[in-house]
Amino acid sequence: MSNQGLIYVVSAPSGTGKTTLLKRVMGYFPEIRFSISYTTRPPRPGERDGKDYHFISPQRFQQMVEKGAFTEWAEVLGNRYGTSMDSIRESRSQGVDMILDIDSQGAIQIKGQFKAGIFIFIMPPSLEALKQRLKARGVDGQKVIQFRVAHARDEMKQAKWYDYIIVNERVEEAAEQLKSIIIAERCRRSRVLKGIGLRKL
Ligand code: 5GP
Repeated sequence: MSNQGLIYVVSAPSGTGKTTLLKRVMGYFPEIRFSISYTTRPPRPGERDGKDYHFISPQRFQQMVEKGAFTEWAEVLGNRYGTSMDSIRESRSQGVDMILDIDSQGAIQIKGQFKAGIFIFIMPPSLEALKQRLKARGVDGQKVIQFRVAHARDEMKQAKWYDYIIVNERVEEAAEQLKSIIIAERCRRSRVLKGIGLRKL
């Protein structure tokens, strides 16, 4: 008897280095599927449709909302983002593990539907460190940085209901921590016993 695929939900305020961290860890677990979200945000340079996101119009997003095509969706900093119901169902039924990179509003919706989901929050070492990272990235002006830091402070309060918190001070260490969480979750007693066809010993 095989297990249903696991759902790892990873959230972090922007500028926390989550994308770099996830890329590293995904390279280590090629069998884990990365959930490609739908968004109304325009692509950034280097982003590809169907790889980083499915980039769609606000009208198409609204149609998908009305059809109930999303497992969760949320508005983040003026754009809408959603996770397709079909892709989650497919991975689950195929026993394929999945990583969802979504914000805390989406994560709480997933928690309501998939009790066995694993919720991981990535924190910056401090708000000051976050501010410095956003400055160094050179993408946003001072006003936007202030706004992002204020939003990050709110977002960090949500960490209280996540299962794990990783403080991303050094990406190598944070990647080791995320890998360890993934491996440990795969070794949970109930999952291993079910996986080998022994629900009870
Ligand atoms: P960005 O525009 O920088 O790629 O992402 C902005 C925020 O949206 C990030 O916090 C990211 O985790 C979140 N996000 C990306 N996809 C989804 C999604 O499908 N649902 C929700 N709720 N948030 C998402």
